[in-house]
Amino acid sequence: MRPAPAHLFPIVLAGPSGGGKTTVRRALLGRRSDLRFSVSATTRAPRPGEVDGRDYQYMDRATFERLIEAEELLEWAQVHGDLYGTPRSNLRSAWDEGLHLLLDIDVQGARQLRAVQPDAVTIFLLPPSYERLVDRLRNRGSEDRSSFRKRMRSALAELAEVERFDYVVVNDDLEDAVRAVESVIAAERHKLRRLTPDVMQVVRDLSDSLNGMLLASDEQEARNA
Ligand code: ADP
Ligand code: 5GP
Repeated sequence: MRPAPAHLFPIVLAGPSGGGKTTVRRALLGRRSDLRFSVSATTRAPRPGEVDGRDYQYMDRATFERLIEAEELLEWAQVHGDLYGTPRSNLRSAWDEGLHLLLDIDVQGARQLRAVQPDAVTIFLLPPSYERLVDRLRNRGSEDRSSFRKRMRSALAELAEVERFDYVVVNDDLEDAVRAVESVIAAERHKLRRLTPDVMQVVRDLSDSLNGMLLASDEQEARNA
């Protein structure tokens, strides 16, 4: 797979289930037009209100395994007993449209993505406390007792990976968390190595003009001397 165009780095949101990845991602997509959400393939059953093709591509295990064999997934992992993966085509179509791909994936996926797309910016979303994490998951009402325990267990494994991430955002107040992610995107855009050809052209044009002006002024001084 070709590397990302420098200014279209993929953006990864990861962190414990219930930490707010879906909520932050929806808020970001609602207010920005430069992001394309990466719809993952999964073997998990849809939750009430989720829509096939918008939230996930839902499929059975055999279909998912065919995608793995055909090497159509950029990364994939087993999470809480189900398979989840990012179709390679998500990245291609985001770049073709000139957009950043926004991925909501687990820490195993983030690790694989860094290996194939080292330009990716990875953000770990932390719930502010254990109590808030548990409250949020309970209030979401999406998990039965056994699924809840699985998510708590994976939350521990996710936390162990926090130091591998580029940024950490605590999702206490939602608006603050979304703003923090937007600041990360803005700062990353201005990294020297990501400067676009347009910006480099401005640098060249400025340098040419400055050189021209200085040369003319030196000549004038020489004539006056
Ligand atoms: P994840 O996608 O990481 O599993 P969700 O986005 O589904 O987490 O969030 C879990 C629950 O917490 C949801 O019910 C959501 O509405 C709630 N939630 C998320 N962020 C906040 C926040 N900043 N303040 C209050 N509730 C939140
Ligand atoms: P949920 O079932 O709550 O939607 O997601 C469970 C976990 O799977 C979350 O941590 C989510 O980020 C992760 N996940 C969703 N899609 C992908 C994917 O394509 N790849 C990987 N590795 N993890 C994913």
